[in-house]
Amino acid sequence: LAAHYAALKDLPAVTPDGVKVELMANIGTHMDVDNAMNYGAEGVGLFRSEFVFMGRQEIPTEEDQFKAYKEAVEKCKGKLCVIRTMDIGGDKPLPYLNIPHEDNPFLGYRAVRISLQRKDLFLPQLKAILRAGVYGKVAIMIPMIINVNEFKEVKARIEDAKAELVHEGKSYSDDVQVGIMVETPSAAVMTPVLAKYVDFFSIGTNDLVQYTLACDRGNANISYLYNHFNPSVLRLIQRTIQSARDNGIWAGMCGEMASDPYAAVLLMGMGIHELSMSAPSIPRVKEMLRKTSSVKAKEVLADVMKLEDGDEIREYLHKVL
Ligand code: PEP
Ligand code: MG
Repeated sequence: LAAHYAALKDLPAVTPDGVKVELMANIGTHMDVDNAMNYGAEGVGLFRSEFVFMGRQEIPTEEDQFKAYKEAVEKCKGKLCVIRTMDIGGDKPLPYLNIPHEDNPFLGYRAVRISLQRKDLFLPQLKAILRAGVYGKVAIMIPMIINVNEFKEVKARIEDAKAELVHEGKSYSDDVQVGIMVETPSAAVMTPVLAKYVDFFSIGTNDLVQYTLACDRGNANISYLYNHFNPSVLRLIQRTIQSARDNGIWAGMCGEMASDPYAAVLLMGMGIHELSMSAPSIPRVKEMLRKTSSVKAKEVLADVMKLEDGDEIREYLHKVL
């Protein structure tokens, strides 16, 4: 099996009828990049930058962050590296930020909500990412967006960061895409509008499933409800991909759903451009895409969208694929 997957490493994820899906890797540190490339990743679709902030006693400086991002970008050797700005809060607390106790951290002071209130955190991070862009192909991705205004503010902060870099005489890349995670139901519903402002969408199903189904992603008692094939979730995903296509931007997915080969077929049928996952999942997803035509995927998708229950959809997919 290992040899079989190794043979797939340098082959693209192309369907028999020629539809290509980019398969990328999720990483937590630059040390994960080489491993990702060994599994055939075509770049990094999610660098969870909060890990640069965790396991230390104080806020990492712009210079600390620049080094971490630059290493990852260099190791991508010209392939895209999507760096997500810090997603602290929720399930990832950070002691030195002294965030007051919250009854509902997943609904609380988290991710871009912190970034927009704390320029002292956000500007150094944006500057570090823009500087790392000089060493390869970088994109900035914003987590937990719920509305257009947040994204406009982010864009203003990026302009501030560039102005500071110019003032300080530091070189940076002006060719950095800026996109958002679609991981809240509000963002997914608003994708036709958000698509006019962003360069790309990446669907974060870990949170999107949790928020859509009001179902904690880590609670074993209700894990039977936590299903990425729930029809409501599938409709939000399809809407997001369609919004991207209608507006000429790309849509990807970086939540766990992207590593499910059966889901990958549905997503390919919906027209997704990119799937980002933990590196060891890449060969299995690639194998499934290489043997399933887009015509077949669209037929399966049409059938699935008529079904009314997530468990039923999963069973159906396992039967027909
Ligand atoms: C997600 O929510 O799907 C995601 C990729 O982000 P995280 O798992 O880091 O919350
Ligand atoms: Mg998330």
